[in-house]
Amino acid sequence: MKNIAIIGSGLSGLTTAWYARHFDPEANITVFGTDHKSGHIATEIHENVKLEKGPGFLLLENPVLHFILHQMGIKLSPIKEKIYVLKDGYYNKAPSGFMEFENGRFSFLSGGLASLMGMKKKFTPREGVSFFDFLKSTYGLTYAETFGSVFARSVLFCEAENLNFQAAWPGFYEAVKKGLNLKQALAFLQTEDQKFLDTAFGDTLKFSYQPGLYYYNDGLGKLMELLVENLKSRNVHFEFSRISEINGHNNDYHLNTKKNKYGSFNNVVFAIAARDQAPLWKSHQKELSQKLGEPGYRQVSYVYSAYNIKDFNRAGLGFFASRKEKLTISGSYFVNAYSKDTEKENVFLTRSVIPGDLSLFNDQELTAIQIENFEKVFGLKSAPLWSRVYRHEFAAPLLDKNYVPWVKSLRELAAYNKGIELTGKDFCGGDMSAVLQDAFNIAHRLCKTTL
Ligand SMILES: Cc1cc2nc3c(=O)[nH]c(=O)nc-3n(C[C@H](O)[C@H](O)[C@H](O)COP(=O)(O)OP(=O)(O)OC[C@H]3O[C@@H](n4cnc5c(N)ncnc54)[C@H](O)[C@@H]3O)c2cc1C
Repeated sequence: MKNIAIIGSGLSGLTTAWYARHFDPEANITVFGTDHKSGHIATEIHENVKLEKGPGFLLLENPVLHFILHQMGIKLSPIKEKIYVLKDGYYNKAPSGFMEFENGRFSFLSGGLASLMGMKKKFTPREGVSFFDFLKSTYGLTYAETFGSVFARSVLFCEAENLNFQAAWPGFYEAVKKGLNLKQALAFLQTEDQKFLDTAFGDTLKFSYQPGLYYYNDGLGKLMELLVENLKSRNVHFEFSRISEINGHNNDYHLNTKKNKYGSFNNVVFAIAARDQAPLWKSHQKELSQKLGEPGYRQVSYVYSAYNIKDFNRAGLGFFASRKEKLTISGSYFVNAYSKDTEKENVFLTRSVIPGDLSLFNDQELTAIQIENFEKVFGLKSAPLWSRVYRHEFAAPLLDKNYVPWVKSLRELAAYNKGIELTGKDFCGGDMSAVLQDAFNIAHRLCKTTL
């Protein structure tokens, strides 16, 4: 009987555990987590309103999570409202699919007039080309400044100039590098995605699912709790204590916490951030430990502010602004677009995204930045009823030109250890759909070849 350990009880660890159990009802599966049970996904109730500390909603472009929730009888609510883009001081609807990924790639490439002009173009990427330069050479400077800048700032917390094209869209990069034009490259990737779905799910995918943005009405933290309960009821064991060391080799590993030793495990799946993983390998494989500790992270803070609904109320999912607009916030989501709590409380809830290292600013100063920005964009004079700040020091890996070689050499170093797998946001470019697909693939590889 297989004995599998999964370190990390965030979305990637829980997804790996769910599919490992699905594929192999007999396997011994143990998930290790810290007190912070569901990783970046966490919900807090404040003034009777649910606040998401990390991801505000789910960006789901493949059926990996849909399938789990379908089996559990859980329904997510799709978010249909439009996002707006601030351009030259004007508030415009973003092209369709702006926030969404289409089969794992962002679909605004295929929407809008600029895209129509660019789709037949060939683009020969050089190593290290930025997302900004890619857009500039295919769609023109205005498009790169307006949409590229907005997208990078809102979704990946960085400037498009600092976002490496290959790191953020590895499959797309490889396809255009082969000499396909953009349209052909997208078609190629869609075929690849279909192959993944057919092999992975085959006929079992009888329910229909729609790629897009989703919210769970009881909060994403609750969704993670239900997933943990479901796994426990299906004999997946949980240990909420921090793993500090790994020992062993060749499908025979032991894991240590400060107080206990666990093992032996045939497989260990690391579903934790690289920086959390580095110390675990210190005594076992110094080179891997050092490599894991190398990258820097993008930081982001979220400022929630609740306004009296009579003072401030806008339609849509929110707005984002390019760097040219010179706002400190990248933009703001309007929580009323998907949460029911806000209406009951008669508040209009905003969640502003402020990228970068803000450790020198206290919470009041961050809130003041948001208020100043709202005055500039909406001419808003009213003060919020209350505010709340959440900071993420290690939000996303630096998706710079070193990222792809870094992941490659990590995987090579980890491969010396038979039965070890690395997954999670730091190794999949930070995109939730890629994270879910990787977790699925690992469970599939470890436990079964067909569903
Ligand atoms: C700030 C932020 C906002 C985001 N917003 C969105 C969004 O709006 N929409 C979207 O689709 N995606 C979003 N993402 C991406 C998405 O959140 C991630 O892809 C996904 O949640 C990552 O899950 P994970 O399991 O890889 O990592 P994590 O959520 O970080 O989970 C890792 C877990 O491992 C635990 N752990 C660490 N070390 C150890 C140890 N030694 N022993 C045991 N356990 C350990 C941690 O405590 C944690 O619980 C966002 C990500 C961040 C960081």
